[in-house]
Amino acid sequence: MNTTLTFSDFNFDARLNDGLASMGYDKPTPIQQEAIPAILQKRDLIACAQTGTGKTAAYLLPILNNIIHAEKRHLNTLVVAPTRELAQQIDQQVEGFGYFLGVSSIAVYGGNDGAVWEQQKRALEAGVDIIIATPGRLIAQLASGVIKLDQVEHLVLDEADRMLDMGFYEDIIRIIKYLPEKRQTLLFSATMPPKIRALANRILINPAEINIAISKPAEGILQQAYSLYDEQKERLIQHILKDDKFPSAIIFASTKENVKKLDRTLRKMGLDVKAIHSDLEQADRESILREFKNKQLSIVIGTDVLSRGIDVEGISLVINFDVPPDPEDYIHRIGRTARAATTGTAITFINLHDQHKFQRIEQLIGREVEKVPLPLGFGDAPVYSPGTRKETSARKPFHKGKRPHGKSHHGPHHRGR
Ligand code: AMP
Repeated sequence: MNTTLTFSDFNFDARLNDGLASMGYDKPTPIQQEAIPAILQKRDLIACAQTGTGKTAAYLLPILNNIIHAEKRHLNTLVVAPTRELAQQIDQQVEGFGYFLGVSSIAVYGGNDGAVWEQQKRALEAGVDIIIATPGRLIAQLASGVIKLDQVEHLVLDEADRMLDMGFYEDIIRIIKYLPEKRQTLLFSATMPPKIRALANRILINPAEINIAISKPAEGILQQAYSLYDEQKERLIQHILKDDKFPSAIIFASTKENVKKLDRTLRKMGLDVKAIHSDLEQADRESILREFKNKQLSIVIGTDVLSRGIDVEGISLVINFDVPPDPEDYIHRIGRTARAATTGTAITFINLHDQHKFQRIEQLIGREVEKVPLPLGFGDAPVYSPGTRKETSARKPFHKGKRPHGKSHHGPHHRGR
């Protein structure tokens, strides 16, 4: 796999690059690095990737790039997804990018009242670039004649394994009959059981294949997180470490500067700590690691470089002073504890700015991490609500001037072209 691709390698339209920057996407995730070139080459695709890997943007970005360059605009893409929640999430990502591109989308899903059906119908009649639909409701709308799929260029089946588990196989085949034979079909699935292979054989032509394997944290790790402000972090570390409950701990911070600063502060607090960073000589780093291994030193602080290198038995606690930018680094960091089937604790500090990053981690590991309230006397904490505007919390939040991700909205939306 080529791990060195950047977004500029895809030669996207400048407006799309602006959208990427504003969404805070700095570099393509592994699935994006592999899928985007194949999709741009107009190949069919079968991709094994879970939620949290960035799979949605992996297909949306090249499709959006294609739409904005189209001479004549029409319904270009149909995304079929198993649930209303997923359809809405995909729609929100289109909306996030579409804001810069003037691309319109609508989520078509069942289970709501007649007014929403009418609203969906009106939006569909006005014309959209992308429809994101659950199979049942799509078939109902197709039967009503309001959706015409005969000019669709891209069909995406998202979470295909879940759709088959929910009994949508026949519905998918029925939907495909409405589509032109000449189209690009992209199939995404978290798992690849034989029935997915069979579906792929039936509907894909000479597809590119991508498999993004992700590691999972060991079962023995107790994972917890605190939502808090930056000013509260150091005091909380002191609180957690104060009773010597954890004989051996690693603290991770994202930058060398933070590692050094934290080292100074924790020493002042009287903690038995040393820091490892790139300004140290190799011999000094090794000597610190040896002390830590031999249990002569109880706490070591470092950046992610430490998370991959260190192989020490019996680490009882990992603290993430900030949320690692790459979700896989979270797994590497917390994997330093609970090795060899022992138990360990991994605690992550989440400031307002990092909430979105932590949500990606939770998506990748496939579950929510327990959020522990701050101890008494620590004052207010920010509400943990990634994907919403942060101004609702008690104090003025850290603000980077970016548009919020995953804007929440209800029901379908439609913007003119
Ligand atoms: P998905 O796997 O598509 O559900 O995406 C998980 C989350 O990752 C979503 O919240 C996306 O907005 C976010 N995301 C996708 N690609 C990137 C990227 N290249 N950089 C940062 N965030 C991303």
